[in-house]
Amino acid sequence: MSIKLDILVIGAHADDAEIGMSGTIAKQAAAGYKVGIIDLTEAELSSNGNVQLRQEEAAAASRVLGLSHRSNLGLPDRSLHASPENIAAVTEAIRSLSPDIVFAPYWEDRHPDHVAASKLVEEAVFNAKLRRYMPNISAIPAPDLYYYFINDWRTPDLLVDVTAFYPLKEQALECYRSQFGQAVAGEDVALTPLNQGYVERVKARDALLGQRKLIPYAEGFAVKSPYLIELFGSSST
Ligand SMILES: [Zn+2]
Repeated sequence: MSIKLDILVIGAHADDAEIGMSGTIAKQAAAGYKVGIIDLTEAELSSNGNVQLRQEEAAAASRVLGLSHRSNLGLPDRSLHASPENIAAVTEAIRSLSPDIVFAPYWEDRHPDHVAASKLVEEAVFNAKLRRYMPNISAIPAPDLYYYFINDWRTPDLLVDVTAFYPLKEQALECYRSQFGQAVAGEDVALTPLNQGYVERVKARDALLGQRKLIPYAEGFAVKSPYLIELFGSSST
């Protein structure tokens, strides 16, 4: 991991970033920015699919989106709490990729791993700039931190128009057949929220988000810190 990224998206499981913001990822990658994804776990406790299949699906989705980087930290599934070891692993990964912007899962979600990942990334982003924390790895300037929606969402603070890139988002989600493929009676597949019309619900959410600005599809983001804007230019003299 030596490439410098413009944007780093971190998720608990492969498919989290795609659910929340693959339209934005595809849009920024197409514009020439270096976008990467880190999956924190191999989703080894996932009800459907297996680790090998999940890796193949993630690789296929990465190609669709034009990612510059994708890696998996192999942290333990269902144990993503902000322990010193987990924070160190994520901080090291962030420092090595030195992104300008980091995206984490939104801090409220029905899946506890997404909530845990949100906190873990927040802690690691904070530590990434501390020069006396893990001094053997160079500290980096603090990246901006935004939060993307996976299952739960609310009125966003930021919207990105992803209409032109929505076909790529659908294509990226289709790569995760083990997760979103419609459950068929008699198959050895556990019924989960993901395989009961989930992608259709994601599309409905993104359409509703777009409605706020009268655009077909948007992805929404939340922030914790106020962000700086300029009103009608920056000159004060
Ligand atoms: Zn997930």
